[in-house]
Amino acid sequence: MAVATVPILRNRIGGAWHEPVGAELLDVPDPATGRAIARVPLSDAAAVDAAVQSAEAAQPAWAAVPVAERVRVCYRLRELMEDQASELRDLIVRENGKTQADAQGEVRRALEVVELSCGMPTLMMGRVLADVSRGIDCEEIRYPVGVCGVITPFNFPLMVPMWTLPLAIAAGNAVVCKPSERTPTSAIRIVELFEAAGLPPGLLNLVHGARAVVTAICEHPGIRAVSFVGSQPVAAYVYRTASAHGKRVQALAGAKNHLVVMPDADLAVAVPAIMSSAFGGAGQRCLAGSVVVAVGEAGDRIVAALAEASRHLRVGPGADPETGMGPVIRDDSRTRITGYIEAGVREGATLVCDGRGAPVDDPAGSDGFFLGPTIFDHVTPAMSIAREEIFGPVLSVVRTDTLDGALAIVNASRFGNAASIFTQSGGAARRWRQGVEAGMLGVNIGVAAPVALFPFSGWKDSFYGDLHATGLDGMHFFTRRKVVTSRF
Ligand code: NAD
Repeated sequence: MAVATVPILRNRIGGAWHEPVGAELLDVPDPATGRAIARVPLSDAAAVDAAVQSAEAAQPAWAAVPVAERVRVCYRLRELMEDQASELRDLIVRENGKTQADAQGEVRRALEVVELSCGMPTLMMGRVLADVSRGIDCEEIRYPVGVCGVITPFNFPLMVPMWTLPLAIAAGNAVVCKPSERTPTSAIRIVELFEAAGLPPGLLNLVHGARAVVTAICEHPGIRAVSFVGSQPVAAYVYRTASAHGKRVQALAGAKNHLVVMPDADLAVAVPAIMSSAFGGAGQRCLAGSVVVAVGEAGDRIVAALAEASRHLRVGPGADPETGMGPVIRDDSRTRITGYIEAGVREGATLVCDGRGAPVDDPAGSDGFFLGPTIFDHVTPAMSIAREEIFGPVLSVVRTDTLDGALAIVNASRFGNAASIFTQSGGAARRWRQGVEAGMLGVNIGVAAPVALFPFSGWKDSFYGDLHATGLDGMHFFTRRKVVTSRF
């Protein structure tokens, strides 16, 4: 029987593929089978330096191309992505493990940012005030930043790179991108698509790797701005290191998102929304709802309804269209998540639904990294399962008596990425909106992901920096201004 060879991935530098010479290679398993689909090189600082040099060489000519011409690449990219939407979906499913529906949603969300970038001529427009003084005019003009670093996580291998790449490129920058070493293949397709759309060589460079590449990007004098998305400790490290090296930085970090259920909530709306929020992407989303805060008599009803819905959640390979929840990304992630379930039991929470050893609908009987949905009731805010980002399919229910009690629980979190409320009361929703300390809020919505026209605006330890990703913030991050005062 022929043994399929596992491809070794290459870096893209200056419009050419570079074989990794001497780099350590890491297996990239399909999370649904455990079998390697690629081997990714862990590149070093020299590869980053080569990428920065090629970006520096290409960027001035690109910045000189009129922005209305630059965005034609985005228009063509959009068409190519539409044409290849199902291949992109399947690529995501294969390397990340999420369901087809989740992956399809990811492709749509990535497209949204490409569409936003098509508007760069309007977004980048400056401002003028005539006669700021007698005979003197003042104008503000936007220019690209130069060479930018983009570092991304495993959980949205297509969408998160696309939060920044189209905006950076349309604004006239060149980029050195380091995708997650756990999901590196979607980024290769992104580079191929940009180049097929007409992006000149050297403007979008891809360097595979892990910490050494991240550090080199944060320290390289040729890189002017670093956009990072990933876990909180690494976000803090990137923010500290890159800003100490004089760069502007946006570092989107981890989360612990709360979903408040008021006694008047419509459970026909709340239950599917909470299920999708907690267990979509196997709980591996920065917007995952991981704590339900049940107010008053909502408690018993919501726990019973969620437990019932979990029993019908089919766990299996993402490629099967009937699957409701796919595997987690790695076996060691499953071990970490299982450790949290054990901690919840130890700390005295009531285990309503146990994902350990849950049945997996996989006729192939594979060695995938599966875990079923877990629900804990009577969780207290002091327990580790209520405080820490688990990043897996584990939902904690904390009970309280009032909306103010719920707000206090939510606001005690060190994170402030997203938070939702389920209620039919406009007054409760308004009080919630004003009092809650989080950047992305949902009212009767489980995953409050802003569309690309708005910023992705986490608070507290969920974000380090000033300008957020996407929306006008995204354009601001990838441009810098000159203010010209003239007298004629
Ligand atoms: P991660 O922090 O492990 O990895 C992110 C990037 O940092 C990867 O490219 C990785 O190679 C690199 N990295 C990992 N460890 C490093 C280290 N010690 N030093 C330097 N670089 C390192 O994150 P992940 O597990 O890939 O992604 C999940 C995390 O990302 C979760 O915490 C999730 O909440 C967060 N996330 C946040 C957002 C947001 O918008 N706030 C969006 C998506 C994911």
